[in-house]
Amino acid sequence: MATVKVAGKSYAVDAVVFDKDGTLVDFHLLWGGRVLGACDALVQKAGGGEKLSRALLRTLGYDKDAGKINGNSPFACSPMAKLDTIAAAVLFQHGFPWGEAERLVQESFAPGARGASAPAAVRPLADLPKLFTALTEAGLQVAVATSDDRAPTEAALAQLGLGGAAQLVQLVVCGDDGLPAKPSPLLLLEIAGRLGVATDKVMVVGDTAADLRMAVDAGAVAVGVLSGAGGPDDIAPLAHVVAADINHISVTA
Ligand SMILES: [Mg+2]
Repeated sequence: MATVKVAGKSYAVDAVVFDKDGTLVDFHLLWGGRVLGACDALVQKAGGGEKLSRALLRTLGYDKDAGKINGNSPFACSPMAKLDTIAAAVLFQHGFPWGEAERLVQESFAPGARGASAPAAVRPLADLPKLFTALTEAGLQVAVATSDDRAPTEAALAQLGLGGAAQLVQLVVCGDDGLPAKPSPLLLLEIAGRLGVATDKVMVVGDTAADLRMAVDAGAVAVGVLSGAGGPDDIAPLAHVVAADINHISVTA
């Protein structure tokens, strides 16, 4: 047990579970490029034009005029497999038979959306090794729970100096692990079980309503950060405490 301080409030917890995109790393830099690339590839493959492109981006949650992803959208909250289904449904609405829509998505959209991110697109929002070392040395378990797939997640954590030999993350759960998806509290129960801690002694740190809803419904401490996809209106109603970003988190043993 250690005391984690967030924006002036203190919580005694045994574990901290971080979301990845928008919490540990810059969300828009990482996903903006992936989203546009995957949708462009699908539109090209389908022989579509501007109308299909706009429909795809709008349905998945990208505001082309603002150049931003909506924080309460599929893009911000859903596992990759659901994005595939949504993209195929948009093609279906535009006249493609379902089987062909799914095939086109698998051939063009899915590889782009899942592709390993260019190292330059993975920008940490804090000195992550320093923060994770402080949490670990205070006796806390640290986990990462993301809707992103495992391969790009492990690549990103390695690049950030957290994965592999660094041993700064005890558990990583990803969108393609076959577990319940955020905002289901069952995902947090699973994480707490694997870490061997009680859910009410877990702090969840995330940038979207899905992260915080999961935390609240599981009885955990919900910390919202404004560094990612979610705005204050998405986050404040659910979070026990809201911080600008994870630089406002500190720990004492
Ligand atoms: Mg996030």
